[in-house]
Amino acid sequence: MQVSTRAAQFEATVESRESVSDHLVRLVLGGLDEWPSTGVPDEWVAIVVPGQFQSRYYTVRDFRDGRLTLDVVVHDQGLVTEWAMRDCVGDMVAVSEPKASFDPPPDAEWLMLVGDLTAMPAISRIVESHPHLPVRVWAEVPDDLTGYLPDGAEVTWLAPPAAGQSALAAVVEGIEWPEGPGYFWMAGESAQMRAIRKHLMRVVGMASSHYDVMGYWRATAGRQPRAVDPGPIWRAGKAAGKSDDEIWAAYDAAREVGDG
Ligand SMILES: Cc1cc2nc3c(=O)[nH]c(=O)nc-3n(C[C@H](O)[C@H](O)[C@H](O)COP(=O)(O)OP(=O)(O)OC[C@H]3O[C@@H](n4cnc5c(N)ncnc54)[C@H](O)[C@@H]3O)c2cc1C
Repeated sequence: MQVSTRAAQFEATVESRESVSDHLVRLVLGGLDEWPSTGVPDEWVAIVVPGQFQSRYYTVRDFRDGRLTLDVVVHDQGLVTEWAMRDCVGDMVAVSEPKASFDPPPDAEWLMLVGDLTAMPAISRIVESHPHLPVRVWAEVPDDLTGYLPDGAEVTWLAPPAAGQSALAAVVEGIEWPEGPGYFWMAGESAQMRAIRKHLMRVVGMASSHYDVMGYWRATAGRQPRAVDPGPIWRAGKAAGKSDDEIWAAYDAAREVGDG
């Protein structure tokens, strides 16, 4: 049910909760018949869980018959993580309209996808929706996710260096890029993503239309990142004609701890 036309918020009920692996919980939210999917495979929503007013962002793993599937990483502490660890079936959740970023150029002959556990729902959907392109995946995950990614991609599984940490920047620095035009999509810990953007720009020399690198969460060693609503940054960036990548860089900068 759409609860506000201006803010385009929808009200959903948690219909089921199941454990996918040690650190991944699948929630199915129902009652979303009017929710407008973009159909873009990395689309995401902001959700607000009971007792909270701040939102958090989750990728739409699946949407059909008015039901939205989210795969939620459960880590040490956090608004949504602590809620999702409990039995939340029957809880009401506010869900935003979707936004999306995945936008390969029409001449892309290959896809390279890199991400940590938070990126696995998007990577699954991207692989599913591109059966005719060669797809290479690097997945940095703490759990055994055998069977989680659809068939059709060549996958390299990597372990994170430690709980709550990521070393994906070094992985990307070691990639041998295929010949011809393609598209590189990546999401994960924000500091890693910043390093990767620099590498792509300065070392690989890739055109920004051929990659999308998104900071999904910030490793803050116990400190909270600044809560920044990406909505205004997104709208202002689009209005100014900025690329998705420039907008994501501005979002990362706005969330810098201790800044402003
Ligand atoms: C576009 C987009 C799509 C996303 N899709 C997904 C998705 O499908 N599934 C998913 O699980 N996440 C996804 N994320 C990431 C998710 O929004 C963040 O991890 C968020 O901070 C989790 O909220 P929380 O309430 O659990 O923790 P918060 O209250 O935000 O943070 C509490 C503490 O936990 C740490 N922390 C936050 N996230 C993680 C993590 N993943 N691992 C270890 N420590 C962490 C923080 O540094 C902080 O110290 C997405 C983010 C974006 C921007």
